Amino acid sequence: MAEVLVVVEHSGGEVKKVTLEMLTLARELGTPAAVVLGGPGTAAPLHDKLSEYGAAKVYAGESDDLDGYLVAPKASVLAELVRSTSPAAVLLGSTQEGKEIAGRLAVKLDNGLLTDVVGLSPDGVATQVVFAGSTIVKSRVTRGLPLVTVRPNSLTPAPAPGTAEVSTLDVTVDESAKLARVVDRKVEAKGARPELTEASVVVSGGRGVGSADNFKLVEELADLLGGAVGASRAATDSGFYPHQFQVGQTGKTVSPQLYVALGISGAIQHRAGMQTSKTIVAVNKDAEAPIFELADFGVVGDLFKVVPQAAEEIRKRK
Ligand SMILES: Cc1cc2nc3c(=O)[nH]c(=O)nc-3n(C[C@H](O)[C@H](O)[C@H](O)COP(=O)(O)OP(=O)(O)OC[C@H]3O[C@@H](n4cnc5c(N)ncnc54)[C@H](O)[C@@H]3O)c2cc1C
Repeated sequence: MAEVLVVVEHSGGEVKKVTLEMLTLARELGTPAAVVLGGPGTAAPLHDKLSEYGAAKVYAGESDDLDGYLVAPKASVLAELVRSTSPAAVLLGSTQEGKEIAGRLAVKLDNGLLTDVVGLSPDGVATQVVFAGSTIVKSRVTRGLPLVTVRPNSLTPAPAPGTAEVSTLDVTVDESAKLARVVDRKVEAKGARPELTEASVVVSGGRGVGSADNFKLVEELADLLGGAVGASRAATDSGFYPHQFQVGQTGKTVSPQLYVALGISGAIQHRAGMQTSKTIVAVNKDAEAPIFELADFGVVGDLFKVVPQAAEEIRKRK
């Protein structure tokens, strides 16, 4: 079977969840081959995880040039790899970086590109969910190979343990790809909570939470459940919580095992970012709120009464 190239998203020596999702998808399409691009020493710590999720090969592209410049060198190296391996498909994460690399790669290869894909069948037909989840579109790249970016949290990663063979890439980056250099990196201070898009529990607050101060209640419940905190756009626009935690069409897409919506009405744009969550719990004082159409468990009540009681019960059971 032909290889399916999966461009690995990683950070701090760890494989990001979207990569595991892509490897799971790649297994349906051919032989998964993970492509690691980064500075010297990037690939080794990722090898075991990539093997665990079915990568038959790890292409290790390591060079200061890949780490020291923005995405152009990565697109150059990938273009060379695609030309030399003629894969069945190329999958990248639908993240800021993944999409930028994919766009550049498509131009270099004179190839079509589909972004924000949530599924790809072996015949190259991709599924996209658009208009805030109300329309499903099936499309196919008509020029070149299926080159797609996969939306994080669109499928459940499943392990398929093996041992990936390592193949070292010859990284030569010409000057035309070195036009934007990284001059400084500051890693954002990470709290004890899991990353929003990777968390298995997300507790989100909406306008009904009422103020930034009241968001402590949302944080408290999230911490008791070992989860991440999210927010609706009304909450972030009102300054209750930072914008990077916004869930929805114009925010992050999450797909946790448990999503708790506190004081969120359930507008279609919010649902677009959380409707694939496994279990949805909603607390809203309005019994007619649309979030209840989606919720597995709904509590009609005042969140300021319900959440402290829930927190108390959880504490007792810990
Ligand atoms: C182009 C576009 C993109 C958008 N993108 C996003 C997006 O990415 N994410 C997003 O979230 N929205 C997005 N929106 C906005 C979206 O349409 C809604 O306005 C928003 O989701 C509403 O947020 P909310 O549910 O917190 O507020 P509201 O709709 O005002 O709902 C607040 C809810 O809290 C309940 N409530 C109030 N007090 C209490 C209490 N004490 N206890 C319990 N319940 C209480 C109310 O009954 C109500 O249902 C977008 C809109 C547009 C036009």
